[in-house]
Amino acid sequence: MTNKVSRKIKQFKGIKENPSILGFGCMRLPRLDPEKPDIDIKQAEEMIDYAYTHGVNYFDTAYPYHEGLSELFIGEVLKKYPRDSFYLATKMPGWELKTVEYAKRIFNEQLKKCQVDYFDFYLCHALSKNNFEIYKKPEIMDFLHQMKKEGKIRHLGFSFHDTPEVLDEIIHTYPWDFVQIQLNYLDWDFQNAQKQYKIIESYGVPIIVMEPVRGGTLANLSEDAASILKEVKPDQSVASWAIRYAASKDQVMTVLSGMSNLEQTVDNVKTLTDFAPLSKDEQKTIDQALKVFLENNTIPCTNCKYCMPCDHGVDIPSVFKAYNKYAISKFGRAFIKEYEELGKEKLAINCVACGECLTKCPQNIDIPKRMKEIDQIYQELKQKYSN
Ligand code: SF4
Ligand code: SF4
Repeated sequence: MTNKVSRKIKQFKGIKENPSILGFGCMRLPRLDPEKPDIDIKQAEEMIDYAYTHGVNYFDTAYPYHEGLSELFIGEVLKKYPRDSFYLATKMPGWELKTVEYAKRIFNEQLKKCQVDYFDFYLCHALSKNNFEIYKKPEIMDFLHQMKKEGKIRHLGFSFHDTPEVLDEIIHTYPWDFVQIQLNYLDWDFQNAQKQYKIIESYGVPIIVMEPVRGGTLANLSEDAASILKEVKPDQSVASWAIRYAASKDQVMTVLSGMSNLEQTVDNVKTLTDFAPLSKDEQKTIDQALKVFLENNTIPCTNCKYCMPCDHGVDIPSVFKAYNKYAISKFGRAFIKEYEELGKEKLAINCVACGECLTKCPQNIDIPKRMKEIDQIYQELKQKYSN
């Protein structure tokens, strides 16, 4: 018999369904070409099928993922399974909403693309102080509530990127069935995840976790930090600690992982099959590893790409990714190579500090300041290795 990913024993307020603890995030599916949004359908389908047959029943997509291809893909793959055997979540792109007619058009398009009559979980995407202004127009929320009444939305929630104060205001303003936040052991203190968790918990609303491994950062800890985890559980991946950390929180219903290959899918399934919450000793082990990791001073970029495009050509997330690898490994030559491979026009030196990207970054990274620092480090390393 196939071992299955666990479900939470706890019954969450207003949720009669029983989603699996592991949810499949469809924002980073394997690509045919890393520069293009096209999905490697064969590989991605194999991953979805593996997850489904091992008990994963929650699938999360969104209108802009893979430039619109993610919804089409998941609709096509899931249609072979009985509709009541999985839960499908997608999101309204609030930042593009101008009128309620537009919202209606997007919603109906999403149903069509996903080949379903209803969404089990529907989210207002990436709410922040600015985006929430749009949802304060009563006609847009009236429309979403009408969809709920008609059964086309089973549960209405939102995903969130802003301060705890804004979160409190949003939860307080409308009745929500669930909230999706970024929660992981790095952000628990570093990015207010703890405060956000406590606010949501106080309203009794279930939580869906996104970015449990922080865009891969917590799967690629520095060697000294990773060795602390490996010493305790040599047969478990570094990423598995982060997934279990998020799943261990009481108010968390499902942990999404944006999987990019079959290996990650198999590992996540293994991690959350016969799931047991972290023990006190395991929690201490994570604290130790995190302390060592932070000492390496990485930039907390999750590769969400909300800051892109930059009008001056800088490939912001790729620059940070290359730098973070260097910050962890300190391999100067490898950094120069990877960095230069991005292409001259995409490097930090092209940043003119216009500040356009600053308000778009949910991680509140001071992007122009960091660009200046990275360029300086690059120039110094270049000089060092050319001597
Ligand atoms: S501050 Fe720099 S990286 Fe950001 S948008 Fe302006 S030029 Fe691009
Ligand atoms: S810099 Fe900020 S907005 Fe840009 S990809 Fe990284 S986390 Fe996302």
